[in-house]
Amino acid sequence: MSKSLTAEIISVGTELLLGNTTNTDARDISVYLSELGINVYYHTVVGDNPERLTKAVEIARSRADIIITTGGLGPTCDDLTKQVLAKAFDLEMCYHEELAEEMRRYFKEIIGVEHMTENNLQQAYLPAGCTVFHNEWGTAPGCAFEAEGVRVIMLPGPPRECNAMFKNCAMPYLSALSDEVIFSHSLHIFGRGESDVEAMLRDMMNELKNPTLAPYAKEGEVMLRVTAKAATEEEAEKLTLPVVERLRAVLGDIIYGMDVKSLEGVVLELLKEKHMTISTAESCTGGFIAKRITDLRGASEVFMGGAVTYSSESKTAVLGVKRETIERYGVISGEVAKEMAENARRVFGTDIAVSTTGLSGPDGDGINRVGTVYIALATPDKVFVQMENSGFGRARSRTMATNLALDMVRRYLTGLPVVVDYFGR
Ligand code: ATP
Repeated sequence: MSKSLTAEIISVGTELLLGNTTNTDARDISVYLSELGINVYYHTVVGDNPERLTKAVEIARSRADIIITTGGLGPTCDDLTKQVLAKAFDLEMCYHEELAEEMRRYFKEIIGVEHMTENNLQQAYLPAGCTVFHNEWGTAPGCAFEAEGVRVIMLPGPPRECNAMFKNCAMPYLSALSDEVIFSHSLHIFGRGESDVEAMLRDMMNELKNPTLAPYAKEGEVMLRVTAKAATEEEAEKLTLPVVERLRAVLGDIIYGMDVKSLEGVVLELLKEKHMTISTAESCTGGFIAKRITDLRGASEVFMGGAVTYSSESKTAVLGVKRETIERYGVISGEVAKEMAENARRVFGTDIAVSTTGLSGPDGDGINRVGTVYIALATPDKVFVQMENSGFGRARSRTMATNLALDMVRRYLTGLPVVVDYFGR
């Protein structure tokens, strides 16, 4: 097995240091690099300043096999990345007429400008001997070169261009550096925190070398990645399968999917498969459940509508929740959640409906603990009600309630027990 390569990402741009722009390029590239089995040890951010960028490059070359820069490839005078990198590795800059021609075409055909300004031609200069990464998504070309045992890759800053160039140009370039192929399966878990999952799997994680097993925390969820290296993709996948089986045996039905995008994605597919429709009646989640479902392509096949009924009055006026129920049990109660879901199912004419009513805080109501949320799922035969209190503030409470509502739907549609006391509250 060859040694794993290490990479450092240097993001260039004063706007990143000032906090005006979030460094999403480094985040996205890191995800791709981990898919390639390349270890990212450092992210560096440096302003548009040649001396400081030179210093950052000196440090990076002393500790990484691969340096990836983002930004500073454009035509303006603060775009210095190529010049600084070429100088640091003692390379001349060479003019590429075909790149100038591509830019002229881009300006004419995409932007609709007959003559581009002269400063754009600066982008046609690249370090001598580099592999050119043509930019089909903008104007500034990227490139890759090897010098003094280090691989350098330069990508444009705008995220759309950076992402597309990484996937289409840098990934094949980096894959060719290794005679091994990486394959990974991702298992998605809802219902246990990262530290719980890690504690359950610690021995397995320590024991495994190929494949490896690593947990990643997402808000209210955990993703486990099983990654193997082998000569071919088939062999690598074969190595992952026994580990996936072991994980399924340990974690059971808290795994909501393998290689899936999201919990709502799983719910959408299940609803489509069963030709069932859903609606929502939300209070404290303020439309999050409906948003997450309707963010997905194909949602209209299964999602018929939703109501955000934040006040007691609107719960009565829009959904027909009985005043007596609210007076008797309180607006934050299982009984109100139940009526909201039952009535939404009827109002929207759907097979199932989910509802939420809760106290997101920070202010209390003198009755319920802040963070208490009741979630109900109305189905043709029965209404399921669940109480949850994630106890970590407003944002977390709303996310957890949304996740729980989606998970109740997932569990119902797969024939699992719907109400589970995941967190022992
Ligand atoms: P351009 O041709 O647009 O000048 P460039 O490679 O020179 O490309 P920059 O000028 O450094 O890129 O950045 C262009 C824009 O891209 C920035 O204003 C910023 O909004 C965005 N951007 C730059 N770097 C990053 C980053 N690391 N993460 C997210 N967005 C970024």
